[in-house]
Amino acid sequence: MTDKSDRRLIIVSNRVAMPRKNGAAAGGLTVGILAALKDQGGVWFGWNGRLTDRESGPPDIVTRDNIDFATISLNQADYEQYYNGYSNKVLWPVCHYLLDFIQYDAADFDGYRRVNALFARKLASILEPDDIIWVHDYHLIPLAAELRAAGFDNPIGFFLHVPFPSYEALRAVPGHDYLLRTLCAYDVIGFHTPRDLAAFKTCLSEPVVDAEPLSDNRVAVAGGELIADVFPIGVDVDDIVELAGKAQGSKKLRSMVESLNGRELIIGVDRLDYSKGLTQRLLSYERLLEKYPNAQNDLVLMQIAPPTRTGVRTYDEIRSELEQTSGRINGRFSEADWVPIRYLNKGIDRKTLMGMFRHAAVGVVTPVRDGMNLVAKEYIAAQDPADPGVLVLSGLAGAACELDQAIIVNPYDRDEVADGIAHALNMPLEERRERHASMLATLRQNDITAWRTRFVDALLSRTHRGAAPGVA
Ligand code: UDP
Repeated sequence: MTDKSDRRLIIVSNRVAMPRKNGAAAGGLTVGILAALKDQGGVWFGWNGRLTDRESGPPDIVTRDNIDFATISLNQADYEQYYNGYSNKVLWPVCHYLLDFIQYDAADFDGYRRVNALFARKLASILEPDDIIWVHDYHLIPLAAELRAAGFDNPIGFFLHVPFPSYEALRAVPGHDYLLRTLCAYDVIGFHTPRDLAAFKTCLSEPVVDAEPLSDNRVAVAGGELIADVFPIGVDVDDIVELAGKAQGSKKLRSMVESLNGRELIIGVDRLDYSKGLTQRLLSYERLLEKYPNAQNDLVLMQIAPPTRTGVRTYDEIRSELEQTSGRINGRFSEADWVPIRYLNKGIDRKTLMGMFRHAAVGVVTPVRDGMNLVAKEYIAAQDPADPGVLVLSGLAGAACELDQAIIVNPYDRDEVADGIAHALNMPLEERRERHASMLATLRQNDITAWRTRFVDALLSRTHRGAAPGVA
């Protein structure tokens, strides 16, 4: 609808990632934000990843192409309490319905509120009245309420990159009433899937929040109304096709292909996170090797798992669990000329990754819960349409709402995942082409530009809000 070019877009996320020359590994949020800012330009505000013992000054601004990267530092206590603490030991597990992983500490909750107030103060120093503000992810839920309390009336939207839990799960979290109340200070709240929107709506009838649904996507809140809707994040299909094509000529990829010696490649790519179902996946692959002994020497599972949030106990534990499981399976099945699992505990640059996807007969994406999972979409986009590979996808990933022509499996059911991979490996060419074409059409329709445009349009269509809920 509106011409967006005349209003500055300010994107806010916990961490700002400067583009790296070699296209080194990045998470889904970074990939999405950079793609969203690439055409239109704007400001990306957030933490620079550095720790300081002084109160951080005004944001540092560095301009690259048409993006201003505006960053601040945090101190050690902020990092421990706001980031490692309440964000990643409380909100991350509850959003993924993994309540046993919650480790709550009241000081962490204080830190979360303190850093959101800090973000608001620092952001305020660069805001102009016409700016539109788009806040990303669970670290920054109270940010709009902080900005409203400081008198800012700009349109402010929030997009959640992780699943939204239903009220019955969320209520386990101390502070959930505050989170729901402050969430209602946004003009637009965006989710990846209809499931997440439905879960959010389960909270609206609770007494802790003063809100009432008006229609499918409009909610009455104190002082006005907000839009709560589904905006599935997409990928830049043409960019992936180009990268995957270019990678085929690279030395790195050619030598990887040669080393397979004609064996079928099954690929998994996930940050080393307990939500990604990595141990369950390796056990499912073990089941596959047990059930189909003739296939054994014909397959290689390449699991790329860059470490993340190191120093948090649960992440260190999953790492050692995975090392033990892959080592045990390799010890059990390896032959002198074959190792069934190649486990890479490091990130791979984007071009090589897209090239590997194109070469892999099967992509396995089996998180026990995921907001979207961009890897699933990238795997489909990178395939050769004339001879595409097959995606085996967890029904608990947001991507399953759109990629319904993948082989959908339950990641907790080893037999189902093993049989799903076997099915993928044996699927006739015609069926592979049909499934791939249907999913590629969906990816083209809901691409990264559609995601950004639809969200920003919703933000520009907001009706004026009176007094918005504060942070109290
Ligand atoms: N990625 C990468 N190199 C790696 C591992 C991951 O570039 O070694 C990228 C991957 O291509 C995808 C993103 O990181 O774009 C991961 O996003 P996803 O939504 O799958 O998961 P998240 O990490 O955000 O939970």
